[in-house]
Amino acid sequence: MKFSWKNILLWSLPIIVISFFLWQGLFAPVTNENNNNLVNSRMTYGRFLEYIEMGWVKKVDIYENGHTAIIEAIGPELGNRIQKIRVELPASAPELVTKLKKNHIDLDAHPTKNNTALWNLVGNLFFPLLLIISLALLFRRSNNTTGGPGQAMSFGKSKALFQIEAKTGIVFDDVAGIDEAKEEFEEIVTFLKKPEYFTAVGAKIPKGVLLVGPPGTGKTLLAKAIAGEANVPFFSISGSEFVEMFVGVGASRVRDLFKKAKENAPCIIFIDEIDAVGRQRGTGIGGGNDEREQTLNQLLTEMDGFEGNTGIIVVAATNRADILDSALLRPGRFDRQVNVDIPDFKGRLDILKVHSKNKKIDPNVSISIIARRTPGFSGADLANLLNEAAILTAREHKNQITLQEIDKAIDRIIAGMEGTALVDSKSKRLIAYHEIGHAIVGTLLKDHENVQKVTLIPRGQARGLTWFTPSEDQSLISRSQIKAKIMGALGGRATEEIVFGESEITTGASNDLQQVTAMARQMVTRFGMSNIGPLSLENEDSNPFLGRSIGNLNEYSDEIAIKIDNQIQTIVEECHLKTREIIKNNRVIIDKLVDILIEKETIDGQEFRKIIEQYSDIPQKI
Ligand code: ADP
Ligand code: MG
Ligand code: ZN
Repeated sequence: MKFSWKNILLWSLPIIVISFFLWQGLFAPVTNENNNNLVNSRMTYGRFLEYIEMGWVKKVDIYENGHTAIIEAIGPELGNRIQKIRVELPASAPELVTKLKKNHIDLDAHPTKNNTALWNLVGNLFFPLLLIISLALLFRRSNNTTGGPGQAMSFGKSKALFQIEAKTGIVFDDVAGIDEAKEEFEEIVTFLKKPEYFTAVGAKIPKGVLLVGPPGTGKTLLAKAIAGEANVPFFSISGSEFVEMFVGVGASRVRDLFKKAKENAPCIIFIDEIDAVGRQRGTGIGGGNDEREQTLNQLLTEMDGFEGNTGIIVVAATNRADILDSALLRPGRFDRQVNVDIPDFKGRLDILKVHSKNKKIDPNVSISIIARRTPGFSGADLANLLNEAAILTAREHKNQITLQEIDKAIDRIIAGMEGTALVDSKSKRLIAYHEIGHAIVGTLLKDHENVQKVTLIPRGQARGLTWFTPSEDQSLISRSQIKAKIMGALGGRATEEIVFGESEITTGASNDLQQVTAMARQMVTRFGMSNIGPLSLENEDSNPFLGRSIGNLNEYSDEIAIKIDNQIQTIVEECHLKTREIIKNNRVIIDKLVDILIEKETIDGQEFRKIIEQYSDIPQKI
């Protein structure tokens, strides 16, 4: 349902008309008799005359042009109480008035005609008036409320719909590690500061910039930095805030936002999570979303509605550009697209430098070691890491953050909170064998990353953990590296099988097996590393719940599907066999390592490798 004044009027008109007739039918006849309708007892004219004779009548009021009288009388028949009684008077009763006068009875005649008309009027207006007043009250109320169902009639005007920051206080120096994006934005600052440079040569200043990248990579930060550098106000709203329960609210919010922005130009409008409104129209499960489409249309209209030179630049952020409506990406709207990625080693180093500025860090701590240990961390993760380390430091009453706290913070961020170790038991022993299995396979395989540490201290969901030092260059991974990873992941389960027997294997490997299957599947369907040949059969993110890609689910025939499954199985089986070989051949070292691990609970990588060298003649790289 749409809510607008027009609709309200359309709806209330018939209601008013109906209520008018209802009122007429039910109540109008009674009002003709006006206030007399309270009098229930009646008396004949003859009896009335007798009452006068007896002197029992105290007061007579004559109504309806002498047709009715209401008398006040007292008498034995009336229980000796003064009561009001109605009397119908005959058409002509000339003797009545004289009689009343003679008996000194109070007489009053009421001009009924006018009275009735007035009562009619009031009566007829009463119901509709009541309706209108209550409607008005309803509107007042819902306009004042924030949120809740009252929103329905607020027409999107009542709430503070967007945040306005006059000064963001963020400058480009606060943003690190995403240099390309930063360069692009430095240019935009020049647009805002000196538009005449560009307009003089006929250049059109871009209206919209779309920032694309995973969460926490600094998109919001970057948008704020442009506003801060250019010294202009920052208007921000999140896409999900546009989309509310009722149709029309989102669109009016967009209108309000742009209106306010135009009044404050030059400025930056920042729309976070634009995919919430800007998703490709006409797709998705369960049909389109009317509200979202209206909001998106309004956004497109607004963006077309101002000239590029008015000093408003719309910056939008999303982590998925591929699902955006193509209309948004047309020239004149978000015609610039800037990618912000998870930082690489150098990027992490720069971000860590920015965030360590206001922290007391032990000078012996090398920032580059932290950067090396944190591949895959976003800017927000790194900021969080240093903050966690600072909190740990304060908790331990130290005055400088050392590598120890940083290590703890990294572990916590990657694997969750630390638990307490199990007491020595069969399951502790099994977990120890499982973890040592991962570690030894990882160590003996040439193409596997190095062991950083093995621990029996549980963390998050994991009951024991083997950490590997991630290699820096994660962008190109060879077939043998993937296979080594698969074997390393199978190392835990394979050790359980060999040491404890097939019937004793546990559920502890379920996470490992998930990874194994995923890696093998990618080898077959994405990287062309199987017998099927160099075919790409699945996309990186064919997320069926996001609409457009739903059609891509079955790009291959059923025949190929069977082949894929066979190939995945072949790869995993082959790796499994080789892994079992490694475990069997190194059983002696494994037993020793398990004893040490149970005693110490954690073995770090260097120590681990040293022990292997001691017990095995030559650690054979396979
Ligand atoms: P996004 O909007 O991409 O999800 P944010 O801009 O909100 O990420 O980043 C959250 C926080 O993480 C920032 O306030 C900042 O402290 C930190 N951060 C993220 N990326 C960077 C970066 N490139 N440089 C410095 N700090 C960053
Ligand atoms: Mg953000
Ligand atoms: Zn495991």
